[in-house]
Amino acid sequence: MSLDISKIRQDFPILNQSIYGKPLAYFDNGATTQKPQVVLDTINHFHNSINANIHRGVHKLSEESTKAYEEARETVRSFINAKKSSEIIFTSGATASINLVAFSFGETFVHEGDEVIVSEMEHHSNIVPWQMLCERKKAILKVLPFDNNGELILSKLDELITPKTRILAVTHVSNTLGTVNPIKEIIAKAHQHNVPVLIDGAQGVKHGVIDVQDLDVDFYAIAGHKVYGSTGIGVLYGKENLLNEMYPWQGGGDMIATVSFEKTTYNELPFKFEAGTANFIGAAGLATALEYYKSIGVEAATDYETELLNYATSKLKAIEGVRIIGNAKHKAAIISFLIENIHPYDTGMILDKMGIAVRTGNHCTQPIMAHYGIDGTVRASFAFYNTFEEIDRLVEGVKKVKEMFG
Ligand code: PLP
Repeated sequence: MSLDISKIRQDFPILNQSIYGKPLAYFDNGATTQKPQVVLDTINHFHNSINANIHRGVHKLSEESTKAYEEARETVRSFINAKKSSEIIFTSGATASINLVAFSFGETFVHEGDEVIVSEMEHHSNIVPWQMLCERKKAILKVLPFDNNGELILSKLDELITPKTRILAVTHVSNTLGTVNPIKEIIAKAHQHNVPVLIDGAQGVKHGVIDVQDLDVDFYAIAGHKVYGSTGIGVLYGKENLLNEMYPWQGGGDMIATVSFEKTTYNELPFKFEAGTANFIGAAGLATALEYYKSIGVEAATDYETELLNYATSKLKAIEGVRIIGNAKHKAAIISFLIENIHPYDTGMILDKMGIAVRTGNHCTQPIMAHYGIDGTVRASFAFYNTFEEIDRLVEGVKKVKEMFG
């Protein structure tokens, strides 16, 4: 199915603007995606017509709000093909989802001398919560390395996993290298040793169909704003048996069954992990975003983004002095690069003046920078509303930067 990109672009009002007199070319989708009008409409409508706190009211608006929130949960369940909607926990983002597991799973299952494995290509969000857990529990953090192409060295996993390994946490797609990790294979390998796996799906959910049952993944973390929803909403998928056994994360309203000063009992799933007033409007917006994404066609969008990636890669590689960081065989539409002797920040600043939005810096992946001995990269990350013409502008922009600093 081919996409009608000019029609799709009309769904994203923000794209239709000029920056410093030039049409905006937005290539910072790895950091956050733009929101289609239908998502903005859902959020607006909720604020204008339904807004009332969920679960705690018998009045009409509260009932409607609760219904919309639980329908949003069902939409997420169906989008990632979870068995039950009680396995879908709404959080504030991927970072919160990972922190939830690091704390709650850690409290329940990780003890002194146990081991936790992460990979060398993780976002800080999938390193630091595990480090904090290991510090708290006197456990040991082990690291699965990647090679210079940016591919995980899976043969090392057999050496790293021991009878003391309690969990493995790996990203689906690297936000810096673009690598799409073979997560099904990784999960199967870990399960051979009875090790559960958390997949950081912050970038992965925007790259192809996710089927958590087929993957047999134990936990999958999602950031709503990276998949065309608003900020402040995220999802943790977790297998029911694990979530049931895990100690709660935050305490407060909604997550309790009964409270007395002698003893508090906790609510059933998913509410046990949703303390306080939920971001119910963000959840409704996320559901609309996922429906919209499905209506575009998840596979078609991914295929088109891969075409953009291949086009950009070949054009940028052809420029002398441009070095691509991350050359895995299987990549999502994220391309990190450096221009010889030019600081990424300078490149980003000049591209910005041309209306081209890229990200520069370490992308919250300092260990990746340490691996390559660099401070940062320029990163262009694509979405299905980007065009080949925009990439031509990026390529021309890079040539201009070279000229200016040459
Ligand atoms: N994991 C990856 C791979 C990411 O790219 C990001 C954000 O860039 C995160 C985690 C954190 O997501 P958030 O800040 O939305 O919680």
